This record gives sequence, structure tokens and C-alpha cells, in this order.
Amino acid sequence: MTLTTANKLKEYQNVVNGELVPASSGETVDSLDPATGEAWAKVPRSSLKDVDTIVASARQAFPAWAALSALERADYMRQIGDLIAEHAEEIAELEARDIGWVIRETTYGLIPVLKQIWYDAAGATAVASRGETVQMGPTSLGYTLREPLGVVLGILPWNSPLFTFTMKAAYALAAGNTVVIKPSESAAVSSLRYGELLAKVLPPGVLNVICGKGSEVGDALVSHRDINKVTLTGSGTTAQAIAKATAQHPKPLTLELGGKSPNIVFADANLEKAVDGITTNGIFTGNAGQLCVGGSRILIQRPIFDKMLTLMKEHIEKSIQLGDPMSPESTMGPIVNLSQYKQICSYIDIGLEEGEVVFGGRHGGAELLPGKPQFEGGYWVEPTLFRVESNAHRICQEEIFGPVAVVMPFDTEEEAIALANDTAFGLGAGVWTSNLDCAQRMIRNLDSGNVWVNTYRRVGVELPFGGVKDSGYGTDSILENTREKACVIEMG
Ligand code: NAD
Repeated sequence: MTLTTANKLKEYQNVVNGELVPASSGETVDSLDPATGEAWAKVPRSSLKDVDTIVASARQAFPAWAALSALERADYMRQIGDLIAEHAEEIAELEARDIGWVIRETTYGLIPVLKQIWYDAAGATAVASRGETVQMGPTSLGYTLREPLGVVLGILPWNSPLFTFTMKAAYALAAGNTVVIKPSESAAVSSLRYGELLAKVLPPGVLNVICGKGSEVGDALVSHRDINKVTLTGSGTTAQAIAKATAQHPKPLTLELGGKSPNIVFADANLEKAVDGITTNGIFTGNAGQLCVGGSRILIQRPIFDKMLTLMKEHIEKSIQLGDPMSPESTMGPIVNLSQYKQICSYIDIGLEEGEVVFGGRHGGAELLPGKPQFEGGYWVEPTLFRVESNAHRICQEEIFGPVAVVMPFDTEEEAIALANDTAFGLGAGVWTSNLDCAQRMIRNLDSGNVWVNTYRRVGVELPFGGVKDSGYGTDSILENTREKACVIEMG
């Protein structure tokens, strides 16, 4: 890491074979602070040559890493968990600055989860080396041998770099693979520094990080013959490109993609809890609704519909403090980059035609943070809710990925299920009810990878996390980072 000087931006570098390395071309890209729109750091713009070098580094490190015992690898995982605790403040600040996620959440929400993942991966190493024995007759012994896959490539989105980095790296490493991480070109700073820290603990080449454009570096990595698995968290468009790039030489894929998740409130629900769950905890979050499981379609049973709109509005006014992500007072930050900001603003324009504003709709630093000129060039959008009459509208079907949601009434449980499932996606779903029978029926009938009842967004190490339909398939779990070899020994 290069230190900032008065007029020079801090420059971050790739992590290759345990060392910090610039792009071979020497080229860099400015990383923009989403709160101000100004450059605050530089990251490498890597090329195809760098791809070969980094994959070779991971490949070379693989045999020795795979040969370690599960307990030895677990020891490394625990050391990393401890290291995160030591660098918690720095990591939380980098993530907040880089993507605009408010520091109160990166500090108290993200950091503990990162530690948990590494410690959980430490506990899981043994699982990755367990097979089954099968009696195949008096003289034949069958068994399965679990083996690591080789080099695992983790491709990260811009909205949650360190969480996705950790989910992908921790379980792949725990299973005995070596890893190459490619963060998003517009949110690479925290991953480059995190990789630097991890590389201090791990043997050289076991964990590598390369920054570059998805269509160049990402594509070359995915198609590389020495990459044995690809795990993407990102958009459906990128998933399609990866599926095409690997069609000739297939390799296991894990695809964690987008969502348009329903958050459904029945009239018998605890309304106070539900209001929080469908607003500040569902979509109007510390990272401005830029979350794959954002509850962006809010369905409310008709008898409580008007009351809930009033409660939601009051709750938003009371709880949301849009502002500097680095301030502990702020509860919602900016949009991560200019192109996503423009996309959200264009959906707000569409929403004005398709629906009726319940609250919000404004954007821009000058409008939303008056008297704070430093934020005028930042990418600010206020919490916005549109009331709609039909789920067929574009704002109900397309992923907006920002602090913008729709709300619509329903009458019966059957109607709620039909509306909830009327989407190409299937990632998360929330149900708010005090009726256990209703909750059970909803769980069974919702076409979604995750269903949360009287809570929302409960993601962590205890349960698998993945989607169905266009939200992808697979999970970043220990077993998905292994392969099973079927063995038979004939005796006598
Ligand atoms: P994106 O698909 O544009 O980019 C994701 C990553 O893919 C980036 O690192 C990018 O450089 C890389 N990439 C792009 N083209 C590539 C190619 N041809 N080959 C290889 N890599 C390529 O996604 P984004 O805009 O960064 O993130 C937002 C998306 O991620 C949303 O759709 C969101 O729902 C999704 N997401 C899903 C989850 C989940 O767990 N399901 C979590 C967070 C975000």
C-alpha cells in the first residue's frame, strides 16, 4: 500500500504470490468516493498478461496447500479471523469510503460477520475431507474421497465486496483450494487491502487478488484452463457471459444473482415490527437499498394498507439520516457509482409514470444535503416508495438496486402468493403474520431461496444462502468447493 501525499492519491495494488504488484502496464484507474464523486484512490487496471501471472501463482501454490491437513488449514482460518479483529477499524472505514455503506453498519454489522465466516470455515475444514464408505460385496470396498477442485475464482459485485470476498475465499480455502479474487472495477479498494492483509497470514499464492475490467480480465479468468471453479455474485447479464465462456470447457459454477424480493404483511402481523422490517431493514438500508435481497416489492393486506403507508412514512422520517457514510450519525449513504445512480434515477422517472409517489423521489447532493457543498457531486437518492396497482409494471419486475420500492395491496393469501411469485427472480421473501398456519403455507408456496417470517434479511453462516429461478443457483459452502471421487478396492 502506498501512502497518500498532499497531492497524490493512495495507490492500491494487486496481491500476487504474497506480494503487492501493480498492473504490468503500470495503468491505474481512479476510484471515486460515492459521497462526493471525487477520486480518492487508485487501483490497478490489469491486463491479460496479469491474468496469466496470477493464475500461475494460484496454481503453483495449490499442491502444497491441498496437502495440508484439515487441522492445519483450520489454524490459518482462525488466524485470519483474529487478524480481522486487529484491523477492524481500518477495514470498516475502507468499505464505508469505497462503496458508501454507512460506517455504523460496516463497523457493527459487517466486521463481526467477516470474523464469524472465517471461524466457521475453520470449523468446516474437516467436513471437506470426509467421504463415505460403501460395502459393495464381501471382497469389494467402495468409498468416496472428497478433494479440493484446484483454483477457485471468486468474482465480486460492487455492493458488498468484503462479505462476498469472505464467503467465496473462506470456504474455498478451507476445502483446500487456492483462490483468485476479482473485485468489481468500481469497488476494489477494500478488497485489495483485505487481500494484502490475508496474504500476510497465508503461504504465498494461496490467496490472490486482481483488479480489472469484467469484460477483459474477468472474462479471461473465467475461460482460463487453470481455473477450476467460478463463483460469481453479480448480475444476470454477467452470469450469461460466464455460462457462455465456460460452455466449451465446463467447470462448476456458483451464481448468486439479483432479486426482486416480496415483503408481505398480513393484517394480523405485529405492525411495529413489520414497519421496521419492510423499510429500514428491508430496502431503505445503510447501503441505500443496494442489496440483492432488498425487499423491493412490499405487499400489504388491504385492511391495514392505508395505516401501514402512514406508519412507514413516519418511520422513514424518524429513522433515516441520509448523509456522510463516514459519520456515525448517518443511517443511509449514497449510491455506489455514477452509472448505478443514473440507472436508479431513470427508474424513478419510470415510477412517476407507472405509479404514485408515497414518499421520496428526489435525488442529487444539492437537493438532499443542502448546505454541504462537499456532497454536491455525490450520488444521493432518498428513500422512495411508489404505490402501484399492477405487478406487471417495469418497476415491479426489473431489479432497480437502490432505495426504491413499490407497494401494493392484496386481499387473500392466495393473491399474495401469486403476486409474490410473479417475478423472474427468487432470492428472498419476507412474511409478517402472527398466524403460524399461514406462515407455514407461505413458506411452502413461495418460490424463493430464502423465506424470513417476522424478520428479514437473516443471512449468515448458520444457514445456506442462494437463489432459485433467475436469482441463480448454488451456495458458497464448503462442499461446493470440493469434488467427490468414487473409489473401489477389490480385495483377495
Ligand atoms: P455485475 O454483474 O455488473 O458485476 C459483477 C462482477 O462481474 C464484477 O466484478 C465485474 O467486473 C464482473 N464481470 C462483468 N462482466 C464479466 C465477464 N464477462 N466475465 C467475468 N466477470 C465479469 O454486477 P454488479 O453491478 O457489480 O452487482 C450488482 C448485481 O449483483 C445485482 O444484480 C445484485 O442483485 C447482484 N448481487 C447478488 C447477490 C447475491 O448473493 N445473490 C449479492 C450482491 C449482489
